[in-house]
Amino acid sequence: MSLYTVVIMTESIGVVGAGTMGAGIAQVAAVAGHRVLIADAVPGAADRAVAGIRERVKAQVAKGRLSVDPDALNLTAVDFADALAGCGVVIEAVIEDLAVKRALFAELETVVAGDAILASNTSSLSPTALAAGLDRPGRLVGLHFFNPVPAMKLVEVISGLATDPKVADAAAELAAAWGKSVVRSTATPGFIVNRIARPYYAEAWRIHEERATVPQNIDAVLTGAGGFRMGPFALMDLIGHDVNEAVTRSVWSAFGHDPRFAPSLAQRALVEAGWYGRKSGRGVYPGDGAPAAVPEPPSPAPHFVTEHPAFGDAGEPVPSPLRPLLDRAAGVAVGPGQRDDTAVGLPGGLVELPSGALLVISEGATATALSAAFGRPVIVADRVLDAATATAIAVAASDGCPGHGLAEATGLLQAAGLDVYVIEDTPGLIVTRTVAMLGNLAFDALACGVASEPDIDSAMRLGVNYPLGPLAWARQWGAGTVLRVLDSLENWYRDGHYRASPLLRRAALSHRIHADPIPSSPTESSPTESSPTESSPTESSPTESSPTESSRVS
Ligand code: NAD
Repeated sequence: MSLYTVVIMTESIGVVGAGTMGAGIAQVAAVAGHRVLIADAVPGAADRAVAGIRERVKAQVAKGRLSVDPDALNLTAVDFADALAGCGVVIEAVIEDLAVKRALFAELETVVAGDAILASNTSSLSPTALAAGLDRPGRLVGLHFFNPVPAMKLVEVISGLATDPKVADAAAELAAAWGKSVVRSTATPGFIVNRIARPYYAEAWRIHEERATVPQNIDAVLTGAGGFRMGPFALMDLIGHDVNEAVTRSVWSAFGHDPRFAPSLAQRALVEAGWYGRKSGRGVYPGDGAPAAVPEPPSPAPHFVTEHPAFGDAGEPVPSPLRPLLDRAAGVAVGPGQRDDTAVGLPGGLVELPSGALLVISEGATATALSAAFGRPVIVADRVLDAATATAIAVAASDGCPGHGLAEATGLLQAAGLDVYVIEDTPGLIVTRTVAMLGNLAFDALACGVASEPDIDSAMRLGVNYPLGPLAWARQWGAGTVLRVLDSLENWYRDGHYRASPLLRRAALSHRIHADPIPSSPTESSPTESSPTESSPTESSPTESSPTESSRVS
């Protein structure tokens, strides 16, 4: 145990900024048994926060979710700085402004003890920059809670260049003692969650801007096929496009306008119009909510289809990715075929329909490109998270594909119990390109030593409620498949957006991703102290990080 740990477990906690996040952090600290002092620049704000915390804790106790005495919580509203002198840790949650936060830390440093920890809940500023100019920059650490703090399990502990490792350890132990799942990150733009999550929004915008289908269908496919809790458009309407777009722009500009993080012109237009989402009465969707998604009307299923062999990354025979869907298709006889057309770029495991049209699972090429290479009508099906439980799927047909070929594919997938969404022939459809890009940025973060592999996956499951960590997802698909998807997309658009991470290329070449750990990053990254578990936020008040009806991210 470090010196700092001893200090933080016994001393008072100071919280500066009594808004949404400060009040949440103070609540969690007080419920954990700390003496908590809370300050705010606006007179009366800290008192209101203390009263609000007691009310919320009372409500939780009444529902049987907490067993503490709300009146016994050791919470005190204080006038600024001097009153925080005795705190072992001071966490700031004031406005997101570098100059304001720096001035605050400089003032705090003159007040607190030499071994006190200073922590920032910033969601976008670098702890390196925040610490610059302090007498003891090693004592400053990023402690990024998610909104709503009491409900969200994840905390990112961010080390700046100067952060003393003992300080980061102590902050991680403190957050873990408060019941949080801790992940460690370097001071990179967006840290872990807000960096890797960008494609969830960006791909939806790109598909929408191409007019491949309407937003409600994109949302329906990402939930029904991708297993995400909320579709990206519904989520952005909840977060607020002003907040979501600002995070995207800040990450994009911090990465020197890397096209992988480029913001959307369509979202810019919403922000310019003041159509921020639910809070302003309309966003992508009108104020009364999203229109219903529009799946295809029922089509008769073919009586039989032929299934051709599929191959893994190393060329070994594997079950067709379409096989679990065929298993669900009641009344459709499946005969074995022998075709291997992978040499001409067709994905393995294709299904031949009675009309002669081919149904393939997406590896990033358009149906039209495959049809041109192969000389047959092609229908590309999007990937699904779990073929046994998926309820929806997107498909796209090659130019010139006869209507009855598409109807056969639709009927087959409907016989498997899926809502089928026919979209324009866009490469990587919806789930395929989104998950491939999430995996790509996760590999990139791993390669840059931003965080460890387990921490990256935990952060994305707990911070934004993804059904699988992006690296685990990539492992499930195979690094070679993810790379093929990205290379196809990059080859199609040629704008740098789908540029694959070199570490992903390496994993695909070495086939390591199936059985061995992903090659580790060149720099050391520290594993988390905690053992993350699934969380399901239940309270309200959205911000930019949590894709649930009940919570969002900043
Ligand atoms: P907020 O506007 O709800 O609260 C900020 C509070 O800080 C206000 O009460 C304000 O009066 C006070 N304040 C401003 N300047 C101050 C100063 N110099 N000294 C003392 N008090 C001051 O904001 P918030 O949503 O709670 O966000 C606070 C911080 O947490 C920001 O850095 C934000 O980026 C970060 N964050 C927010 C979220 C979120 O979802 N809202 C999530 C994670 C991190």
